[in-house]
Amino acid sequence: MLAPPFSFSAFVALSLVPLAQAHPIENPVESRLPTRWFHHEDHPVHALFRRGDNGEQFEEPGSPAWTDAYPVLTPNATAMPQAWKDALKAAEDAGKIPRIPQSKSDGDDPVYPKGVDPESPEVCSTTPKCRQPDDIWDAPAGYFGTGFDDGPYLGSSMLYDFLEEKHIGATHFMIGMYIRADPATFVRAFNMEGADIAVHTYSHLYMTTLSNEDVLAQLAWTMQIIHDTTGGRVPRYWRPPYGDADNRVRAIAKEVLGMQIIMWNQDTEDWSMGQTGGTTKEQIAKSMSQWLAGPKTTGLIVLEHELNNATVQAFIDAVPEIEANGWKMVSQARLADGDLDNGQAGVWQNAADSTGDVNPMSVGDSAVGPAPTATENDNSNPDETSGADDAGATTDPDNHSATGEGDDQSGSLSSFSQPSLPSCLALFATLISLTLA
Ligand SMILES: [Zn+2]
Repeated sequence: MLAPPFSFSAFVALSLVPLAQAHPIENPVESRLPTRWFHHEDHPVHALFRRGDNGEQFEEPGSPAWTDAYPVLTPNATAMPQAWKDALKAAEDAGKIPRIPQSKSDGDDPVYPKGVDPESPEVCSTTPKCRQPDDIWDAPAGYFGTGFDDGPYLGSSMLYDFLEEKHIGATHFMIGMYIRADPATFVRAFNMEGADIAVHTYSHLYMTTLSNEDVLAQLAWTMQIIHDTTGGRVPRYWRPPYGDADNRVRAIAKEVLGMQIIMWNQDTEDWSMGQTGGTTKEQIAKSMSQWLAGPKTTGLIVLEHELNNATVQAFIDAVPEIEANGWKMVSQARLADGDLDNGQAGVWQNAADSTGDVNPMSVGDSAVGPAPTATENDNSNPDETSGADDAGATTDPDNHSATGEGDDQSGSLSSFSQPSLPSCLALFATLISLTLA
């Protein structure tokens, strides 16, 4: 992994300057059915992320108050807001979180205790590609779902320049601690035309190895920093690092936090370029050609990363072929919303049709029930939120005043991808040096 081409102090300075003007604190949220990366403003899951009274301003991204509100590295679950703990306990007490043992991983595919079958319907691990109906693995016929994992990172600027120039929308699966380290790049993504934001956890661990509380902390802290930095938007989609999830992890994401998984059906393994035994740009091009020339009856969701300029270049090199083969590129977060081809493609997941009443996902309903009270408690008791360096501080998101339908603020970014363990270790080592330098 290349070292970052800038010093931390320069990076901080760069981060701070443009944000003051660039970040739209009051981006309106669509009031109609969500057809983008964030939940409708009425979704109950918002209760978990609101801080303070309505109308309070969000902290400026990159400012000390903003930065100090979030964990530096892996969140300390014991210090997470009481509202989150209460929501998890409510879901557990309601029997919504399956009791599946945690797996173990030494950097390879996670292994469950003896007698636990990852392919069984009870566990349904994504590692052996067990699918659940709420997962998104495929694009509708004829569509190439665009998305990139692991931003904001070293390849992000090159990628965003290209996406803007070509007017290509994509979903960016963001890592929470990277957002904290590079808010300027995150905000750029948020503001890009056609870009969507999704969650890729806070510090990129194997999720099935974690306790329920640690799974929640990984997801919720990433949602919190995205929420606080996008005018109060709460993401609807996430992608598990290493593609590692099971029914327990799925349920925490869905029942407590209202999020659905987006997986992939083809993998470039772009993260491994430059590593011993890793793939090459020629191999990626060959795989892409095969996929793109293949049948369109199932659309493509290809795993790609904004890790560095090489992974980004692999995507850029494929775009002419994607277009020449007649694939329609759509951001992955929009594949399931039924707004493709005037509603002829995709699936309406939250309403009967594009104008019907929104039915909040079963997800946050019961779990989020106790949140309002818990949130107040949280605000009144800073001890509950004092974590590594977390949070309680935060600001209020209620700036998202509803506007009429058709108000399509699409500011967001998104991408998804999956890094390998070695690449991630390198990433984290780099980040730590960045953060601590
Ligand atoms: Zn990843």
